[in-house]
Amino acid sequence: MPEIKTLTVLGTGVLGSQIAYQAAFHGFAVTAYDIDDEALEKARARFAHLAGIYRAQKVAGAEEGQAEAALANLRLTADLGSAVANADLVIEAVPELLELKRDLYRKIAELAPAKTIFATNSSTLLPSDLKDFTGRPDRFLAIHYANNIWVQNIAEVMGTAATDPAVFDAVVGFARNSGLEPIEIKKEKAGYVLNSLLVPLLNAAAGLLLQGIASPETIDKTWRIATGAPSGPFQIYDVVGLGTAYNIAASSPDAGSQAFAKYLKDNYLDKGKLGVSTGEGFYTY
Ligand code: NAD
Repeated sequence: MPEIKTLTVLGTGVLGSQIAYQAAFHGFAVTAYDIDDEALEKARARFAHLAGIYRAQKVAGAEEGQAEAALANLRLTADLGSAVANADLVIEAVPELLELKRDLYRKIAELAPAKTIFATNSSTLLPSDLKDFTGRPDRFLAIHYANNIWVQNIAEVMGTAATDPAVFDAVVGFARNSGLEPIEIKKEKAGYVLNSLLVPLLNAAAGLLLQGIASPETIDKTWRIATGAPSGPFQIYDVVGLGTAYNIAASSPDAGSQAFAKYLKDNYLDKGKLGVSTGEGFYTY
């Protein structure tokens, strides 16, 4: 299997822009695709913003001109055919809507050359939900990034039973070459490794709070001191964003989740407190 050299990212929102910029920063020729010129203008602004963040946070290499060089490695287009025409790897980071994703895979199945590997960055769908629409189930898998990928730099690589092991290895190699720590997942699992660990921790913390067992500060302190972790669950909620936490809790039928959604809405969302992004959540920043 030849090494992956050219990358196309579909969708240049929160995660797509980070995935594209991070690969360009590490020298890959990257094409970024979005639906229209307005979306591409936003993408340009996101890339410039990321260059500033990499410099300000002194990401290794950023002070030697690499942050600007990355911008030169990025090509933006709203033409899907030309976006995928020469890609070794296409990473899809479009909204988390099953039919929208399936429709896009149907299109690129026709437009991309046979050599192209497709990968989804979906957080909640399994690659098996999409593989039959790719026209190449053996060359399809998931590569899942975490937000703020220059710091939280893991890439969870997860295939389906139909994924060619050589394709899996090539994508693991790509992740490493683009500055990520590859997390090799051997079987399909909703939530990958990270969210399979993190979600139960966050749910348990919410339960302790709602049952009046302990305060957020006490729960966080317990977790930090006893495990050596840098943050407790409520500090993590503030970073993830209480709007996202609310959406996840509200969409679960479970009574505890519904109660937590209401708690977040009444005490935080309705008061404009969304966590770190607004300067206040469980803590003040
Ligand atoms: P987002 O809404 O910020 O960005 C989505 C982008 O896709 C937008 O730029 C939009 O214009 C574009 N788009 C819409 N329809 C499209 C189409 N048909 N073709 C191409 N582009 C299209 O979303 P996001 O937060 O970046 O999430 C994207 C994916 O990444 C989702 O699958 C999500 O589960 C996953 N993800 C998100 C996070 C996160 O923290 N936000 C973390 C890991 C994975």
